[in-house]
Amino acid sequence: MIAPGSTIGILGGGQLGRMLAMAAAQLGYKCHVYSPEKDSIAAEVSARFTCAEWHDRAALAEFAGTCAVITYEFENVPVAPLAVLPAGLLAPDIRALETAQDRVREKRFIEELGGRAAPYAAIDTDGELVGAIERIGTPGILKTRRDGYDGKGQWRIASAREAEGVRVPNAGLVYEALVRFEAEFSVILVRGRDGAVRVWDSPRNVHEGGILMHSTLPAPAIVGAQLIQARQIAQAAADALGYVGVLTCEFFATAADDPLGGPVFNEMAPRVHNSGHWTIEGAVTSQFENHIRAICGLPLGDTASLAGAIEMHNLIGDVAAQESEILADPRAHLHLYGKVEAREGRKMGHVTRVG
Ligand code: AMP
Repeated sequence: MIAPGSTIGILGGGQLGRMLAMAAAQLGYKCHVYSPEKDSIAAEVSARFTCAEWHDRAALAEFAGTCAVITYEFENVPVAPLAVLPAGLLAPDIRALETAQDRVREKRFIEELGGRAAPYAAIDTDGELVGAIERIGTPGILKTRRDGYDGKGQWRIASAREAEGVRVPNAGLVYEALVRFEAEFSVILVRGRDGAVRVWDSPRNVHEGGILMHSTLPAPAIVGAQLIQARQIAQAAADALGYVGVLTCEFFATAADDPLGGPVFNEMAPRVHNSGHWTIEGAVTSQFENHIRAICGLPLGDTASLAGAIEMHNLIGDVAAQESEILADPRAHLHLYGKVEAREGRKMGHVTRVG
């Protein structure tokens, strides 16, 4: 067990790191944030901050020297420099990062565990692109194999001709058939150092332009009907990775008469997740607290929901001066991340209502 009072390292300096650091502080830990960006909203609520590049091995080694355990809030941290971290310090460990950073690798991993992804093709060279799209069929989505998030690095394709002339980046692309889903949902679980697993209720997630807009509980019946299977896949993934911490798997619920029928795996995030923010006020133990408990080897908290109906809305882009309007509802829990610049599509905060 890593005793309260110890320092937890967090790779990445955004809102997930900020909420992790706040949960860590509640349990008596200190946090040391490592981020290449100097305006870190996680560092604002942490004891220490190292601002250095991901590839700066000397800075990473020095950072590691101050931490009893290191976790990450951002799954695109380059893996190679993390070799300087002493063995066993990173939780979840490097396998989870390597798997989740590559859309093709994560789909194959889930398929090997018995899960199902939308039909897809990996594309490594320019010459393969049009043929792959014709083989999988249209409409579909072309995605960068690596480094995409919040709808970035994705293009909807209505016909193979649209892809003519597209240059395939070195890291490759993946082309996926468009899933005609009834609902999107996420399985969020936490796995402890002893292998114990707890899972939160699954919300229905609504995205626009690839960005999560809101998560609501209870999810519709179709999600409930596919949940056992989806949870089995998520837990199998966590077990296979020897995972420690919070793991999120996103799924599409498809209609019974859909050729894909059942839960279709979309992607996994080896970290706390936006669709789990409701757990701060809506569950006995939040995803952030349980992540800290897991990586520190503490017993896991109960994941039960505290109400039958819970909703979380993201505040995206220019949300200035909405505070009074939101807080006019006395049930609203407002979270603002302290970001100064409200760029389009940027997550600035969220609001949760329980019950
Ligand atoms: P991703 O970054 O892969 O999670 O994609 C962001 C969002 O785009 C998803 O949550 C879906 O709303 C949508 N999307 C991604 N891939 C597909 C797909 N194969 N079929 C339908 N919608 C998709």
